[in-house]
Amino acid sequence: MFQIPDHVRPVRDRVLRFVDEHVIPHERGLDRPWAESVTLLTELRERAKAQGLWALGHPAEIGGGGMAMRDYLFVNEAVGRTEPGQAVFGTNTLQTALLLHKHASPATRAELLLPLVERGHGVSFAVTEPGVASSDPTQLQTRADLVDGEWVVTGRKWFTSWVDRSSHVLVMCRTEPEHVPVHQAFSMIVVPTSSPGFTVVRDLPVLGLHDVLSGHFELAFDQVRVPADALLGPRGAGFTLSQERLGPGRIYHCMRWLGQAQRAFDLLCRRANDRHTGGRPLADRQLVQKMVFDSYLQIQSARLMVLHTAELVDRGDQARVEISAIKVQCAQMVHDVVDRAMQIYGGEGMTNDLPLESMYRHARYGRIVDGPDEVHVQRVARSISRSYAGDTPTGWDFATR
Ligand SMILES: Cc1cc2nc3c(=O)[nH]c(=O)nc-3n(C[C@H](O)[C@H](O)[C@H](O)COP(=O)(O)OP(=O)(O)OC[C@H]3O[C@@H](n4cnc5c(N)ncnc54)[C@H](O)[C@@H]3O)c2cc1C
Repeated sequence: MFQIPDHVRPVRDRVLRFVDEHVIPHERGLDRPWAESVTLLTELRERAKAQGLWALGHPAEIGGGGMAMRDYLFVNEAVGRTEPGQAVFGTNTLQTALLLHKHASPATRAELLLPLVERGHGVSFAVTEPGVASSDPTQLQTRADLVDGEWVVTGRKWFTSWVDRSSHVLVMCRTEPEHVPVHQAFSMIVVPTSSPGFTVVRDLPVLGLHDVLSGHFELAFDQVRVPADALLGPRGAGFTLSQERLGPGRIYHCMRWLGQAQRAFDLLCRRANDRHTGGRPLADRQLVQKMVFDSYLQIQSARLMVLHTAELVDRGDQARVEISAIKVQCAQMVHDVVDRAMQIYGGEGMTNDLPLESMYRHARYGRIVDGPDEVHVQRVARSISRSYAGDTPTGWDFATR
């Protein structure tokens, strides 16, 4: 279960080689806003496509490499070694592409899905709203009403990523009246960014990052009108769709973060050997040994838990507890490992001579995106506690998970 399968190793090695030869040397060029880095990104994407390394985890019938999820995870770990890798290899559209593949009408598939996979961008996903604790999305205020055969969308969203490169936004809206149970009261509506009444209010800089993956926007919808069939999936299925998109996506994020952690770990351990104080390498100092040990323990245990979770999902289990657990574990793990590596490089670790400070800023928001840590901790604890409650408790049997 934990070994890289023989048939995956060659493609994983090719991805790693491409990362080392084509992406890492260009990280500086990609550490610029979209408008300034898109030419370089497009060139690198063409190279990845030419080498057959594009969108490897997307289903083949929508233009991807068709790798099975368990195999693709090992590739995604390699992609994650460099933060912009997900844009270069076209992997960052996977979650949205899978959602459209499953739920979009034939017309929407042709208009949105195939170009999304081919271009590597084009559709954004808008749930979070200003002024509302969006980690409890039952409170979302954006609504859509059917008027004369059209949806009229009104509200505000923020932190919608990559709208500057999107022709459409999938918008989570309340479509049903108050008496409908809240988890059936929201729908996902496809809104073209060219619609009258759609406004990009502002770009939200996150932790001072201005790289090719940045671009998170506040949006206003002022009576935006779209056709009645602009629904993604059935009416009232917003929560189900949102979960479908986020659940497996968290496993992909975790493998990518493991790729980041491996790179930071390599830097940490090399530095521990190369840097000397008082006539001895840092690696001989017990406080530094503790950094190596803690990093090893966090990476190794996170990796085993992620692969175990992937196996559960492969077996058809929703693995909700495990997915929430690894999201918390891996976001913290990559943050801590990068932090230790920065520490051991001293002043240099704070500069962009090394990739660590950028990795650190990306790692920090990992504990917020796709649900803050606290929500996942609560979900895990509540599910497990409930299994011990009631007249016929099942308990939580680790041996059967
Ligand atoms: C870089 C970046 C990209 C993003 N991209 C997108 C995107 O493309 N689309 C999109 O829709 N959203 C996106 N988001 C938004 C992100 O998903 C939300 O910020 C996140 O879900 C939290 O929602 P919130 O900001 O409303 O925080 P709130 O819900 O207000 O929570 C604030 C804090 O309260 C605490 N808290 C919340 N619930 C609990 C609880 N049950 N128990 C204890 N404490 C709790 C936590 O500390 C939490 O961080 C992005 C965010 C970032 C930073």
